[in-house]
Amino acid sequence: MANGAVFTACRYEHANNITGPGHATLLTGCYPARTGIVGNDFCDLASGKCGYCAQDSAGVFGARNMLVPTLGDVLRKISPRSKVVGVGLKDRAAILMAGPSATTCVWYDANARRWTSSAAYPQPSWLSSINATVNVDRYIGAVWSPLPLPSGLPVVPMDSVAEEGAFPGGNSAFPHRILDPSHPKFMASVLISPFSMEMLFDVVTEVVDRENLGRDKSPDVLCVGVSTTDYIGHVFGPDSWEVLDVYARADREIKDLLEHLNRRVGKNNYVLVVTSDHGVAPIPEVIRRQAEQQRTTIDAGRIREVEIQVRIDSALSTMLGPLAPNSSYVREIYEPSIYLNWNAIGKADRARVIETTTRAVASHPGIGIALSSDDVTQKRRPAAIDTATWNYIARSTFAGRTGEVVMYPKPYWIIGGNVATHGTPYDYDRWVPMMWYGAGIAPLTSDIKCAPVDIAPTLARLLGVRLGDADGRPLPLNTTTRR
Ligand SMILES: [Zn+2]
Repeated sequence: MANGAVFTACRYEHANNITGPGHATLLTGCYPARTGIVGNDFCDLASGKCGYCAQDSAGVFGARNMLVPTLGDVLRKISPRSKVVGVGLKDRAAILMAGPSATTCVWYDANARRWTSSAAYPQPSWLSSINATVNVDRYIGAVWSPLPLPSGLPVVPMDSVAEEGAFPGGNSAFPHRILDPSHPKFMASVLISPFSMEMLFDVVTEVVDRENLGRDKSPDVLCVGVSTTDYIGHVFGPDSWEVLDVYARADREIKDLLEHLNRRVGKNNYVLVVTSDHGVAPIPEVIRRQAEQQRTTIDAGRIREVEIQVRIDSALSTMLGPLAPNSSYVREIYEPSIYLNWNAIGKADRARVIETTTRAVASHPGIGIALSSDDVTQKRRPAAIDTATWNYIARSTFAGRTGEVVMYPKPYWIIGGNVATHGTPYDYDRWVPMMWYGAGIAPLTSDIKCAPVDIAPTLARLLGVRLGDADGRPLPLNTTTRR
C-alpha cells in the first residue's frame, strides 16, 4: 500500500456478486452478461441442462463455459512462449481467471485432499512432488491462535460473538483446533483456517520456480485465487477477529511472495494486482442487535431457498393445478436465478407463468427485487428499481443462461445457509480492494470510481497487448516509462 497504487473506491458493477461471475470478470474485463458465467452453477434454457460454471458437459473441469477470452488467452495468441498459470484453493477461481488456453492450472481437491488439475490442461510434471510436500498432513494437531493485535486499532475485535458461526468441531472463540484427520470435518477445519492460505502460498512459490515464471522475454501471467478469506468470512462474518487475523496473515504471505519474486524475477520485472471476486455483507443478526443497542431498528434477515420454492409451488398450483407428490414447478434455484420446471408446467402460457412466479417470489418479506429475465434483456425497467441497480442486474444477465426469474434480497437480507454471505447488488457487496504494485507503478492513493473490469484492460496496456472489446477501461496509473 505504501509503494503501490491503491484504489479505495473500487466496486463491482454487476449484481451477482459470487465467486464464479467475479473471477470470470477479473481477467476478461467483461461483465457476466458477456462472459456467460452468470452463477457458480447455471442452466442452459435451450437444452435444459444444468451444471457447474467451471465444468464442461462431460464433467471435465475447465473454462469451456466462458464466452470471452482472458488476458492470458489473448497473450498466448500473440506470444506463444508466454506461460499462463492458474493456482487456486477453489477450482473455479483458478480456471476462470487463467482461461481455457492456460499452460498450467492447478487447484485443491478437498475430497481427495490433494492439488490437482484436469484433462483440459497440460499435466504439470511437478504435481506429485508438490503434493508430497505441500499437503494437509502437516496441520494435523495444529492450533489457530490469533497474532498479537497491533496497537491503535480503531475497534478492538470481539472474539466470541453470539451470532457468529462455530469453527468445525469447536466454537466461535480462539484458539481453533484442527480436527483429527479421521474426523469428517477435518478438511473443513483446515480450509476455514489460515493454514489453507499458507498451503496455497507455498504452492504458488513452488510454481513460480518450477514453471520458471518471469525469467525470459515473454511475459507470463500468474493468477492466484486465495479463498481462505471467503471460507472464514462465511463462518465468522466480516467484522470478526478471525477475519482480521486472516488478513494480517495474508499481508505476511504477500510480503513473502514479493520477496521471493524480487529474488527470483527481479524487483522491476513484475506487476502485482490484489483484488477480490466479490464483497461481503454483515451478519444480519449482528446488525439487527447493533441497531437495537442504538434504540433503532434495521430490517435485516435470512431467506432460505426452500421458502422461495414453497411460495412458487403454491402460486403455480393455484394457476396450473396440484403438483404430483415429491415434484416441484421449480427446476433449480442457483442464486440469483430461478429455473422453472417446464416438464411439470407443460404448455401453459409462458409469460403468465413467469409473471405469477415473479409475484410469488416478491411476496417473501426479505426479497427486494424479483424480475423476469426477459424484462431485463428486453430493457423493461420497473419504476421501483433505480437505474444504477438496474444496470448492475442487466450486466449480470445472459439470455438463455440466466433463470426465467431473478431475485435479490433487500439490503442486509441474505439468501442461503451461511452465517454471513454475499451475492447482492448493494454497495457493501460490490466494494472490493484494488492495489497495484511493481514495475513502473508509482505510489498513488486514488478514490476515483473504478471497477474490477478495469484490471484486464490496464494489464493489457502495461503489456502492450490489445484485449479487444472489454467492458472496462485502463486505469489512470502514474506509470513511469521504461523498456
Ligand atoms: Zn463466498
